[in-house]
Amino acid sequence: SNHQTSATNQTDPETRNIGNFAEALEAMRTAIGEENVLTQDLADYGDPFAPPGEWYRPGAVLLPGSVEDVQAILRIANDHGTPVWTSSQGRNKGYGGGAPRVSGTFALSLRRMNKVLEVDEENCMALVEPGVRFFDLYDHLQKTGSKLWMSVPDLGAGSVVGNALEHGVGYTPIGDHFGNHCGMEVVLPDGDILRTGMGGMSNPRNWLIYPHSCGPSWDGIFSQSNFGIVTKMGISLFPAPEVYAPGWFTLDNEEHFETLLDVLRPLMIDGTIPNQPMIINAVCAASAFGERKQWFDGKGAIPDEVLDRIAATPGFGRWVMRFALYGDAPVVAHNRAKVEQALAAIPGGALMFDAFDGRNLPDFENPHHRVQAGIPSMALDQMTRWYGGEEGGHIGFSCAMPISGKDGSTIRDLSRSVLNARGLDYSAAIIVGKRSMIHVALVVFDTKNEQQTLEAYAATKAMLEPAAKLGYGEYRSHLDFMDEVAAIYDFNDNAQRRFAERIKDCLDPNGILSPGKQGIWPTRFRSGTRGP
Ligand code: ADP
Repeated sequence: SNHQTSATNQTDPETRNIGNFAEALEAMRTAIGEENVLTQDLADYGDPFAPPGEWYRPGAVLLPGSVEDVQAILRIANDHGTPVWTSSQGRNKGYGGGAPRVSGTFALSLRRMNKVLEVDEENCMALVEPGVRFFDLYDHLQKTGSKLWMSVPDLGAGSVVGNALEHGVGYTPIGDHFGNHCGMEVVLPDGDILRTGMGGMSNPRNWLIYPHSCGPSWDGIFSQSNFGIVTKMGISLFPAPEVYAPGWFTLDNEEHFETLLDVLRPLMIDGTIPNQPMIINAVCAASAFGERKQWFDGKGAIPDEVLDRIAATPGFGRWVMRFALYGDAPVVAHNRAKVEQALAAIPGGALMFDAFDGRNLPDFENPHHRVQAGIPSMALDQMTRWYGGEEGGHIGFSCAMPISGKDGSTIRDLSRSVLNARGLDYSAAIIVGKRSMIHVALVVFDTKNEQQTLEAYAATKAMLEPAAKLGYGEYRSHLDFMDEVAAIYDFNDNAQRRFAERIKDCLDPNGILSPGKQGIWPTRFRSGTRGP
């Protein structure tokens, strides 16, 4: 990089890379207002599941209120060589929250930029700022009497934009959140403003409807990256269906776990099941309702007999799948018959359906009924309290793979053996998409239990290599192993990382925006060993 930091900083390897923080802090205060620069009580902006001791933490939090504020922050960061780490709500649970990869640097939180700018009832689209939470968008639609449904992940307190940018998923027919966005506004590291797709015109008739322009599509490079700060995004909504029919399939054995996945694949590909089913194992299901000690209080991983006891509980199973059908009554009836016929072939399975008037929903208590209807909930937060106490946490070890029995049992056996060997339970949630599924090993731990926390991080890292040998790559990763995950994408001498570094150096020559995000380091952090 050409950027010159102060002489002291250049000679001190500890601070060389984070620029002149004290001076930048003063400039930030002047630029965006004293009250929008926080230096104390920053926990709510860090990793919610931080273990005791040294961990990734911001040096200060910046709360811009406008695109102009964001530009001012970037100008100061460039002037002083001080990195700035972007998050929207910074909830990102299981992946590091809003904490920066390089501790002690600025965290930029977009929580104050929280306006729903537009809802297009005809074309079923909304334009939102990054601070808008799923709860906020839902409230907005309710208050304005909108007839449209939205999509939510299991926890509604995160940012709609942040979730889409991380390739997060929800559980309605528009649950592939990044895939269902259209158009974004991005502030580049040098403060320039880019609008993607038809936003390339100054007077577009269709920015939020047609996803491309005439030329390259840039949107993808701003997801899971450090190439820009997204300040607006178009997201899909959909019309309330005549019938909403959530389904619940329990499987009382492990033997036919493979059968379930193989039966499911064609139903996903041909669109019979239009949403993203979630399949969870007995530990995961039990953790949604209570603590481990209700079932087992011994040392080491939960024994098989106990899992069978959990599985025998009504509504649970060794595996249970939630999914839903949507649409006009005859369409839902037709698809329901197809699903019933296909799943009936699985020994040890039981299928239940509910059906509701999608245009006049009751007040759902059941969180599964809520999320699949795009109604935010926080109920599944309970899962992190498996080992007791209020301070539970989890890491997601999340691989993408085909919807196939063989792949499912391979990753199940790998995750279970690595976790159990370290005394941790195997809790799994498989999120099924149209042609692929994501197996999330929810590595749950008690953040107050240092030994268990260390084991949880070590176990998660220990799964990366063996999974990669089998061809499975993570779809998302915690801060603590972004470098390791990037290394796994090793085709042609890590061509993807080399490509990302070239773009990084071009767009962000001073290396100030989110250094280390997804293993992408700017030049000044790259010399010698990787990392700060
Ligand atoms: P959520 O609150 O939905 O969990 P976060 O705000 O934590 O989402 O964002 C998750 C990650 O996505 C961040 O760590 C950051 O890397 C990226 N990200 C979030 N918002 C933006 C944004 N507006 N522009 C660029 N990257 C972003």
